[in-house]
Amino acid sequence: MPKKHLTIALAGNPNSGKTSIFNNLTGTRQKVGNWPGVTVEKKEGHISRAGYDLTIVDLPGTYSLTPFSIEEVVARNYLLDERPDVVIDIIDASNLERSLYLATQIRELDCKVLFALNMADMARSRGTKINDRKLSELLDVPVVFTVGNRNEGMDRLLEQAIRLAESTAPPARIRRVKYSADIEEAIGRLTLFMQSRIEGKLPYLPRWVATKLLEDDAIVKERLVAAAPDAGRQMLEAAEALRQHITDRFDEDPQIVMTDERYGFIAGIVREVQTSTTQQRVDISRSIDLVLTHRLAGFPIFIFFIWAMFQLTFTLGEYPVKWIEAGVDLAAGAAAALMPEGVLKSLTVDGIIVGVGSVIKFMPNILVLFFCIALFEDTGYMARSAFLMDKIMHLIGLHGKSFIPMLMGFGCNVPAIMAARTLESEKDRILTILITPFMSCSAKLPVYVVLAGTFFGARAGTVIFGLYLLGIVLSILTGRVFRSTLLKGADAPFVMELPPYRMPMAKSLLIHMWDRSKIFLRKMGKVILLGSVIIWALSSFPREVPTAGDFAAGTRQEGAVPQAGEAAAGAAQMQRGEERSGGTVDEMRRGRKAKQTENSYIGRLGRFVEPAFAPLGIDWRGGVSLLSGFIAKEIVVSTLGVLHATGDGEEEGALGKALAASGMTPLSALSMMVFVLLYLPCLATTTAIRRETGSTQWMLFSIGYSTSVA
Ligand code: GDP
Ligand code: MG
Repeated sequence: MPKKHLTIALAGNPNSGKTSIFNNLTGTRQKVGNWPGVTVEKKEGHISRAGYDLTIVDLPGTYSLTPFSIEEVVARNYLLDERPDVVIDIIDASNLERSLYLATQIRELDCKVLFALNMADMARSRGTKINDRKLSELLDVPVVFTVGNRNEGMDRLLEQAIRLAESTAPPARIRRVKYSADIEEAIGRLTLFMQSRIEGKLPYLPRWVATKLLEDDAIVKERLVAAAPDAGRQMLEAAEALRQHITDRFDEDPQIVMTDERYGFIAGIVREVQTSTTQQRVDISRSIDLVLTHRLAGFPIFIFFIWAMFQLTFTLGEYPVKWIEAGVDLAAGAAAALMPEGVLKSLTVDGIIVGVGSVIKFMPNILVLFFCIALFEDTGYMARSAFLMDKIMHLIGLHGKSFIPMLMGFGCNVPAIMAARTLESEKDRILTILITPFMSCSAKLPVYVVLAGTFFGARAGTVIFGLYLLGIVLSILTGRVFRSTLLKGADAPFVMELPPYRMPMAKSLLIHMWDRSKIFLRKMGKVILLGSVIIWALSSFPREVPTAGDFAAGTRQEGAVPQAGEAAAGAAQMQRGEERSGGTVDEMRRGRKAKQTENSYIGRLGRFVEPAFAPLGIDWRGGVSLLSGFIAKEIVVSTLGVLHATGDGEEEGALGKALAASGMTPLSALSMMVFVLLYLPCLATTTAIRRETGSTQWMLFSIGYSTSVA
């Protein structure tokens, strides 16, 4: 006996979890194409179950079946014309009221419908309880709880769908939307007309056709006339007269009146079946939102929060930094004392401990930053920031949703670029990916901390805040330019969801913070270690043999023709030497090291790139550091450390002092910071850009663009 065949259609609001459920049900056996004539994706899958061949169709996500958008037309025509055996309406249980609008419309059609109360977990965690029995009873529709992303409830869903398909009794559907008397009367008359004159010619429920005519539904009108030209036209005339009557009566288009009344019906159902312990929280959220998303006050408050975040990052992070510095110095000292003189010792102390140490000490700053970002996320403020930024983002031609990847970019550009996946439109996604690197990531923070801390003292926090702001402004400009040239197109409309505010839980905050900081640590373990060793090698070879002169002259440079920067560095070292009562062995070591660096490969590289950076007021050491920053931005600082020969057993703030002594001014420090902010993203980010845009061209474009801007 050949297997019986059933078609099951999945309908539901966008983001209700349709695709997740579709994937759960069909696995890999799917066919993706377009709906005929339109560029709306159609997914179909085939499975067999309980002796049936099942075809499962994923309908486009819609909020209603009013044929306004292509998606709505496609979904409704499918239900009307293809007549699937069963329609599963995927309901977002955490958004019952909104989901039920589509549900009641599907229920008005002549089809067998089943509700999947999806996102059951979300509803539960929000403290919402839905009485499935009562919902099923009130609407005469079978109801199954599901959790789409965890593959829960799928068996029961299919079981119920098959049982529904097998049932022969027509659904009772006694309870339905009750419209106002005038509308009900009009529906009644049109229904009668339909039953007596057109019945059998148009295969739709008479009452449904009547309501659609009152709503002035163009597609139904067209089909009516096509099915029964004469009677159809008469019916349209009658409908038009009734519509006019209703319009006069309510001073409003019938469609609007009917929509309102449908929502009234739904509100009643929701009141019956849903109990919520969160109502209070929703009310509190509303009150908070009155202030935080206020048209005028919201924005300055937002700026204040961001500014406070950077202040906190800088000030609170400062104390542990000193402890870590002391620890690193201790480790370097111990290694120096224990190991025999030689290349291996130099590698361990100057390469690994000093290199990695100069970056790891920024861990506290980064932890604080990530903690603040986690706080924004967990309290629900992040969604508000997207909402606030929506208008500004529209200036770039993007909407508020793109702001979340950008905000995450302050932490690390790699997950930020991955977060752009949530954007539906490809152009939006590429544009967001191109501007995200201007969001100054946490790896750049060490550079700012050293430079701003040294050259701007108490105003360092404000200067750093200004840098972040500069990045934001440039990203806006970039967005505008690209939106009107390379990536033309309208921004897609979307519904901004504002979850209720939540008291953040310490545990979840710490987990969030730690998850992201781990990325930083892992990078430390691999990329930065490697980078530090490479920089050390480049600065240690070819190796200079210390001469007696070095020891005799202490820090004075011998032999090589002194150059400006070198002379300044020498002078600084002499000065520091005097402070510490004369030329110690330590001083001699450092003088030798400075000379060594000058003549090493990296010194030569520095001389080579110097002219390019000179107009920016950045000396050769700065230039080399910036080059090394391509590996990872953290390395900029460790390279500066190596090139200025600081770090082994030094007093804290040594790098800052050495920089000041090497002739760096507040202006050139600022120039260096701005360059670090803007120039090409790091290796990991460029890789992410290539992966997420799917194109090497965009990656190269991003590199070229950001560096030219810098
Ligand atoms: P569609 O737009 O209706 O196709 O929705 P998707 O299937 O793409 O799901 C939207 C998002 O909701 C995805 O991130 C899913 O992982 C998630 N999701 C789907 N079902 C559930 C669920 O039952 N619970 C939760 N918490 N998330 C879900
Ligand atoms: Mg989908």
